[in-house]
Amino acid sequence: MVVVGIAMLQGARHLHIEAIQDAANDLEIDVEIVELRTSDELSEVEIDGLLLPGGESTVMRLTGNDVASKLLPAIFNWIRENKQKPVLATCAGAILLADPQDGGEPLINAEIDRNAYGGQSDSFEAELDCGYPGVFIRAPRFTSVQDPVECSLNGEPVGVRRGNRIALTFHPELSGDLRYHRNFLEACQ
Ligand code: GLN
Repeated sequence: MVVVGIAMLQGARHLHIEAIQDAANDLEIDVEIVELRTSDELSEVEIDGLLLPGGESTVMRLTGNDVASKLLPAIFNWIRENKQKPVLATCAGAILLADPQDGGEPLINAEIDRNAYGGQSDSFEAELDCGYPGVFIRAPRFTSVQDPVECSLNGEPVGVRRGNRIALTFHPELSGDLRYHRNFLEACQ
């Protein structure tokens, strides 16, 4: 049984949950998905990997640092204490990993620029260099990357990997292609 924690702060959480379930079916892996809303919920379970969906990073910082939740500092601690465990962070999730703003070190070695392609109407779909269908919604852009590049768009990094920790500026849960969720689950296993 693989136990996946998902941060329920904001964003397309339910599509990530569906994608994880579909990927688990494909791979014939038993999966339990734990929805995390508070730091207590994270401390009560032993998770094998963490999914950090996109949304609006400003809102996620507010809700995640709220005294009633405190999920965000708990997540950053968990990631720092479990350096080998898989994390899949998408879009705003990638912003939070690159720039946790908690006084600690960044969780991926990359600089990232929010809303760097423009606003909502500048959102777009484009095939990545590896052929993956990328869905970019008010997406951020890596401005410098020190960790290995996981994937690129026209030669520009749109995904960064630090061990089992992956940060993508696009939304794999919206693409209908389960590759990233399958890889994440296999790493959790
Ligand atoms: N624009 C958002 C931010 O700055 C990220 C967009 C997304 O997660 N789809 O946080």
